[in-house]
Amino acid sequence: MKKTIESYDLKNKTVIIRADLNVPIKEGKIKDNSRILASVKTIKYALDKGAKVVVLSHLGRVKNEIDKAKNGLRPVYEELNKLLDGKLRFTAFTRGAKVEAMVKDMPYGQAILLENTRFEDIEGEKESKNDPELAESWAKLGELFINDAFGTLHREHASNVGLAKLLPSGLGFLVVKEVSELDKLDNPERPFAIIMGGAKVSDKLGVIKSLITKADKMLIGGGMAFTFLKAKGVEIGKSLVEDEYLDYCKELLKEYGNKIILPVDYKVAHDTEDVMPMITDSIGMYQMGLDIGPKTIKLFQDELKGVKTCFWNGPLGMYENPNYQEGTKMVLDYIAKSDMYSILGGGDIVTCANQFGYSDNVSFLSTGGGASLEYLENKDLPGLRYISEE
Ligand code: AMP
Repeated sequence: MKKTIESYDLKNKTVIIRADLNVPIKEGKIKDNSRILASVKTIKYALDKGAKVVVLSHLGRVKNEIDKAKNGLRPVYEELNKLLDGKLRFTAFTRGAKVEAMVKDMPYGQAILLENTRFEDIEGEKESKNDPELAESWAKLGELFINDAFGTLHREHASNVGLAKLLPSGLGFLVVKEVSELDKLDNPERPFAIIMGGAKVSDKLGVIKSLITKADKMLIGGGMAFTFLKAKGVEIGKSLVEDEYLDYCKELLKEYGNKIILPVDYKVAHDTEDVMPMITDSIGMYQMGLDIGPKTIKLFQDELKGVKTCFWNGPLGMYENPNYQEGTKMVLDYIAKSDMYSILGGGDIVTCANQFGYSDNVSFLSTGGGASLEYLENKDLPGLRYISEE
């Protein structure tokens, strides 16, 4: 068993907490603060137990100075500080003598957020390549490392793996909760259904293969359905397709055809800008499928009748455009009204649940995108591997 923050006496300790504060920000405004909200519990716990806390997080991808200008953590600091009742400070540095002095001078019961860990990627990708010298400069700041960044567990970075190798360590409340929710899918109450959507099959090869063996059925929608449909010989017009994965889909259909449920009708258009989409059972040569149609919505809802556990990844249509939201909305609506145990994991489907007002009516929303999928595929994620054992 991995140690957790509760395994340690935190009084008068300096604790480094790797949080996942990677929230969408537009023109300096936070668009969805769920990840910040989800990080508060662990930081607050450490402060209440008498520790001082150094918070680390990445934000976006930082490859150059333009990315750097867009991805500063100051707006996140302002939001998090409100949630921590003013007990948080901020430094525009990621490490160095100044940061060390600030941490030393800070009283117990206070926290400090350092600037975006990925600013260290500009020269030599030090954060993303788990540079040992960078990890050491962070390790110097504290005595204990707590990993609460579920969203980066699948990455081997200096701020998670590097630190866990250097300091006594444990998991934060968010990681413990996420992992225990996803572990429920190892032994689910049946029938157990998976809903897979989103853009590409290639992003989800491993997880599809691993989940389909455990599930009683897999409903496939979104862009990825078209590679499966083409593999079955269905005409898909100009819909999104990955020809190099046709054999993969054919193999899955051969082995698990009885479990895989594909769309039977579609909302199509000539291109994504087309303002006159239409519903059809068969896609024309110059059309592309951008949402599932009403027959498929009914088919998916019927397939979900009596289901006791459901895991859903990826929207069923190009939901960013209001013309193609219906499929995802109606299936979410069905799940929200049912009494099944529902876990939504992996990026865009969580955004859909929030945007369409269903987040309070599903059982669990995973905050991790890729991490939830990789955890379901293979539990031995780098961010967990080096955490101290009880
Ligand atoms: P993912 O990150 O894999 O969950 O994919 C989410 C993306 O899939 C969203 O940006 C959707 O617009 C996109 N998507 C869903 N359905 C389709 C479709 N039929 N054609 C193209 N893109 C789609």
